[in-house]
Formats: sequence, C-alpha cells, structure tokens
Amino acid sequence: MRFELKGKLVFSGELSRIKEDIDAVIKGAEPVLIKGAPKGKETEAAKIIRWHIVGNELELELESGRYVRAHDALLRLAKILATELGKKHKLGLRGISARDYRIILPIAEAPAKAVAEIKKLPHEVVVGDSSVEIHIKELTEAELRGRVVDRLVSMVEETLARASARAAEPMVVREGPKRPHTFKKNPFDVAKKLGWIRDFPGRGQWIYEEPYAKLLQAIEDIIIEEVARPLKFEEVMLPKLIPLEVMQRMPGYLDGVPEGMYYVSPPPRDPEAFKDFKQKLKLTKRVPVEDLKKILKEPAYVLAPAQCEPFYETFAFSHVRMEDLPVKQFDRSGWTYRWEGGGVEGLLRTQEFRRIEFVFLGSPEDVVSIRDAVVDQSIKVVDKLEMEWRLLVATPFYMREGVIGDGSDSSQVATYDVEVLLPYNDSWLEIGSYNVHRNKFVETFKIKEVKGRQVWTGCCGFGTSRWVVGFLAQHGFDPSRWPEPIRRRVGSLPPVPKVVE
Ligand SMILES: [Zn+2]
Repeated sequence: MRFELKGKLVFSGELSRIKEDIDAVIKGAEPVLIKGAPKGKETEAAKIIRWHIVGNELELELESGRYVRAHDALLRLAKILATELGKKHKLGLRGISARDYRIILPIAEAPAKAVAEIKKLPHEVVVGDSSVEIHIKELTEAELRGRVVDRLVSMVEETLARASARAAEPMVVREGPKRPHTFKKNPFDVAKKLGWIRDFPGRGQWIYEEPYAKLLQAIEDIIIEEVARPLKFEEVMLPKLIPLEVMQRMPGYLDGVPEGMYYVSPPPRDPEAFKDFKQKLKLTKRVPVEDLKKILKEPAYVLAPAQCEPFYETFAFSHVRMEDLPVKQFDRSGWTYRWEGGGVEGLLRTQEFRRIEFVFLGSPEDVVSIRDAVVDQSIKVVDKLEMEWRLLVATPFYMREGVIGDGSDSSQVATYDVEVLLPYNDSWLEIGSYNVHRNKFVETFKIKEVKGRQVWTGCCGFGTSRWVVGFLAQHGFDPSRWPEPIRRRVGSLPPVPKVVE
C-alpha cells in the first residue's frame, strides 16, 4: 500500500528567511513520522520526499506505506512546525491542505462487481490487475483531519473483500455421523396441516401453537443446560429495541445491510396529533396510513437484528480490566428481527425468529477458546438430538480478512457455521453461527483496557427456530419417535385448538 501526498502548510508570515530553522525542525521530526508503526515495519511509515518554500507557504511531498499514512504524517509535522516556529519566530499556522493525493492499494483480484462499485466513487479511480489507484484532488484541512482518506481506503478494501468472499465456497471442516432418514417430508407443510403453526397476516411470521412451542422450549433448555451452564455463561436480558446511535456502532449493519432491518418511528406523545387520524379511522374503518406517516416522528430505532448489540454497549466508551475478564453472557429473551422482504421462505427464512445469543469479551486467546468451546458443546447437543450435521468455516460480512489458511487453526477462523441436513430436499440448513470479531467491535464501541492490553469480542447465535425445523425435518412429527432427551421434556402433546373454516 502506498500513499503519495502533495500538501501545503500556510503560515502567517514570510518563510524564506528562516529556511535553515525549518530544515532543522523537519529533520528533527523524522522519528515522529515513524512513531506507532509496528516493529520491523518502519519502512512502511511516512517520510518526507521534498519540500520548498513559496512566500508564506511550505509545500511538502510525503510518501508512506500502510503505517503512519502520509496524511497523518502531514498533520503531525504541521503540529511540530506550528509549535517551533511559533516559539521562535512568532509565526502562526493558518491552514493545512493537500492539492494532490495518490493512493495505491495492492489487490489479489478484482471481481467485476467490486470494480463497478469502486468506480462509482467520486474520485479518479484506476483498477489494474494487481492494484487500485485512487487519485484525490484538493483535500481541505477538515477532510484531512476527519479521516476521509482512511474511510475511503477501508471502503475499497471491504468492497473487494465482500466480492471475493461471496465467490468463495464455504469449507466443511467436520461432519457428524450419517443417519438413516425415514421421514422425508417438508416440515413446513406438515406443521401447517397439523395446526402446529398458523398463518398470520405479517409475511414471514407465524403463530406457533403449543406442540411447536414445547419443542422449541425443550431444545432451548437443553442448549442452556449443556452449553451455557457448563461453560459458565450468565443469563442476561438484552433490549430488542435498538437506538440508531447504538446500531451505528455495529460493523456491517447500517453501513452494510441497512436494507435488512426494521426501523421504528415513535409517535409524538400527544393525543391532539392523532385527532384526525382517529376520526378518519372511525368513519372509514380503514387505517389512514398516509396520516400516520405524517404524524410519526423520524425513525429512531431498529428492531434488534443481531441480538448482541446491547452487550457491547455495556462497555462502550469505557475501560475494562483484563483481570475482570472474560465476561460471558447469554440472552434467550427474545425474538429478533430481519427484514427479508421477498426472501421469506416458510419456516426456514422468517422475519421474526427465536435465537439464543452467547456474547463474550476477553483476551484474544480467551475469546478464541471460548468460541471453540461453544462450538464443541453445540455439536454435542446436535449429536444428543441425533441430527446429522456438518461444521463449516465461513467469512462474515464484517470481516475483511475472513479465513486465513485452511481452517485448521481456529484462531484464524472468524466464523464457524453449524448446519443440519434437511432430508426432504437433501440440502443443508444453518442453525448456528460462532464468531470471533477480533478487535472490530471493540474499536467501534470504543472499549479500552486499563493498561492498553488487547481485548476482543465474540458472539455465538443459536437460531433455535431453525433448530426446530431441522429437528422436525430429520425426526418427523410423531413424538414417540423422537430422541429420549426431547421426548422426556416435551411429554404428551395436547391437541391444538381447532378452527372451523
Ligand atoms: Zn452477535
């Protein structure tokens, strides 16, 4: 990665008479321009290529690699020069700008979709076989200080990573024993026929009757007894109505899939505002949606799409102490929501679903080993429920690196997915996702350790609505044929309420 910057510092007076002093300050500033670059990577920090004076302006050319990027170096240098020239010559710094900034990112491949997206950026962009070159003209001080360039670089990198991640096949790393499957029906059709689920006017939502509810409860109880308790996770209840400011700190959601969630607009708490609305409703017997739209305030929340959002918020903008870590919690308190639009599909893809979310914060080693332990315990539960399963390594959308290596070193795996077989169409259904976020969430939620030691987060989602689907798909609807741990918990199933059509 290379950054080539042509910048300018404007001072309050003529500079040519103090050229020697400026030269001394610039030479002295060299160590400051590599400060913060990792050991051994100092050559990838910034250096000054040349400079010259035009009246009261100092024009500079800087170059850098990935560490201490050229624009950061310019800002550091500006600060030092302002202090020194202020002290000695009573000169004030009047402005910082860049007239030309060239950024060259090496790339492994350039998927067409990503290239099209990158080319939409409001800058000159050249995509070659092995690099992307971005050319920015005229950057103001506010833009330089506001990290516009860093965000632009991340945006390009993420766009490329997303495009190649989509192309990458998930990799199966473990498999459960093959099992005989006598039941071959689609559980969705059978559940409807038996009245275990009922239609609801909301698309992708169902009313779940007692047999389904009991089965879900039994599976959730087993997960808690066999995964949460032995691994010492504490039960908490996390909010499901998430303010936009919190959601904004979740990497990959509002900035990645804003089209995939429900937005909530509160009304003014004022009966007067609804006077016409109520009158129209009474007269027409129809909900006056247009009026509602006018009354409601702007969207202020989303319905939790991830279920772990509030966990990170617990520590946001605060310091934790490594000695108090790891923190391990789980939340089974809810429905979570995703707006699937036209993508809803029976019981497999619903807008409202049950999940038990495990969340944790600790040292990098702890976070990886906790995640791995949750994976191992989950697989034991799947085996106990006699389901056919497989384990995959996957790349979550918020991770740039994705999988490093062949998946055998779990510390390099961002996400494991557990899938179970759907015998009726011989496909696989994801029922769990087990994530190590590294420092991604810690950075966006501004979580710090008191002594600056690295902390990471992770989360594991048990999509229990889908566990039920997988279970029914593999075992059918006759409780006497279900594995013993479930049979014992569910007991006898009462008849579902009958509706005469
Ligand atoms: Zn999560």
